[in-house]
Amino acid sequence: AFFVNRRLRQRTSWKRAQCIVDEFRGGCSTPLSRLRQIVDNMVVEMHAGLAIDGGSKLKMVLSYVDNLPTGNEEGLFYALDLGGTNFRVLRVQMGGKEKRIMNQEYKEVSIPPKVMVGSNEDLFDFIATELASFVASEGEGFFLLPGQQRELGFTFSFPVKQTSINSGTLMKWTKGFAIAETVGKDVVEELQGAMHRSNVDMRVAALVNDTVGTLAGGRYEDDDVMVAVILGTGSNACYVERADAIPKWRGPLPASGSMVINMEWGSFTSAHLPKTEVDDALDADSVNPCDQIFEKMISGMYLGDIVRRVLWKLAAEAAFFGGKVPSRLEVPFILRTPDVSAIHADQSPDLKEVIRVLRVVFGIQSSTLQMRKVIMDVCDIVAERGARLAGAGIVGILKKIGRDGGSLANNGGLENHSYAATEERKKTVVAMDGGLYEHYPKFREYLKQSVVELIGKEAAEHIELRLSKDGSGIGATLLAASHSSFVAEQE
Ligand code: BGC
Ligand code: MG
Repeated sequence: AFFVNRRLRQRTSWKRAQCIVDEFRGGCSTPLSRLRQIVDNMVVEMHAGLAIDGGSKLKMVLSYVDNLPTGNEEGLFYALDLGGTNFRVLRVQMGGKEKRIMNQEYKEVSIPPKVMVGSNEDLFDFIATELASFVASEGEGFFLLPGQQRELGFTFSFPVKQTSINSGTLMKWTKGFAIAETVGKDVVEELQGAMHRSNVDMRVAALVNDTVGTLAGGRYEDDDVMVAVILGTGSNACYVERADAIPKWRGPLPASGSMVINMEWGSFTSAHLPKTEVDDALDADSVNPCDQIFEKMISGMYLGDIVRRVLWKLAAEAAFFGGKVPSRLEVPFILRTPDVSAIHADQSPDLKEVIRVLRVVFGIQSSTLQMRKVIMDVCDIVAERGARLAGAGIVGILKKIGRDGGSLANNGGLENHSYAATEERKKTVVAMDGGLYEHYPKFREYLKQSVVELIGKEAAEHIELRLSKDGSGIGATLLAASHSSFVAEQE
């Protein structure tokens, strides 16, 4: 009867449409009680992942970064940043404590989709070729110190099992990359090989995740930076952990007493996550099913597609766009998160942005205000859920390191200080980066709001979420500098 119905009906069934949206809203809801459970789950999983490798879906990767930039870094350093949709090469001239960053230059290239799912060699050759031409353009304002060789920080924004500061094997791809051969390989070796083929003479001094680069870049500016979060194509977080709180760390305790942990929180999952059948379908159709469940609910690569899937459902089951489902509604990832953000920000009385997106993205020429309001509503539900979940993740970290205002005792940090309850509460800065966070104001608001709800207004005054734009590239050059063989020889 349902199928017969669907064929005959030409006009939108508002009752059914409302029902679909209400059901979706219910499935996505993130009341405080649920967020609290997610915070607690996050903390439990963090402990489990720190205990032993494989102890949790949260990998809690050791970064081998036990010292963050101090400001003394000096010389010319390069970085490569491979992560989401863009690829960057940069160089930075550092002048030590006084002169700080004297000069910087970068070039951004978008990664051809073919390369993301092609061969291992093609990917690394593509990178090395870009690097070679960038090095060739090195000009005035950039100079090696006497005796210094060119060195590079490699920001590689995928889950890597790090084996030292400049080596590590790829555990799996995320974010639409799928090159089977690379999994299990040491990505620094792969890069060095490709650099050799392209005649680039450079040593990889540090291999870092983008979160770790962002943390390092943030710390160069401000000692209060303890956590870094990326909300871009993908999502992840890292933070400064006490070395003695990392049971799986077998090496000698670092002098700083701390190490940066790359959580790989994209693969977090919990029975309390407000997951709907739309999420399940998105996951099943993805290149990495059953994986990166948290990431698929909160990051920029997926938010647009969640919205598209709900619109498709409205079209198919409530004749939302008339008797036929517009064909472009069936195209995966055709609706991008920047468009969702644009819809969401639309304050015009007739919702012009919705009209524009319907036309440009889906080829849908006509709509009523009532329909456009429903579409706006769907965007709101998806963004609010993602933002609040990300907020809960951040509070989980703050709680783990005792910076959530709840416990003053367990205070992690490179400074290794502890303070009495009467002492002024320490400020904590969370360095935030990624296109989603940067370009989606409503998402940012919802995220901030959830943090305040979770830890309370008073405690939230000591937490700053700070946009740290493109910190990961500079951070990688800084970490290359502090792990440079040249500097080591000088000391
Ligand atoms: C990757 C992380 C990365 C994050 C943000 C995720 O898909 O697994 O390593 O930090 O995206 O780029
Ligand atoms: Mg990035």
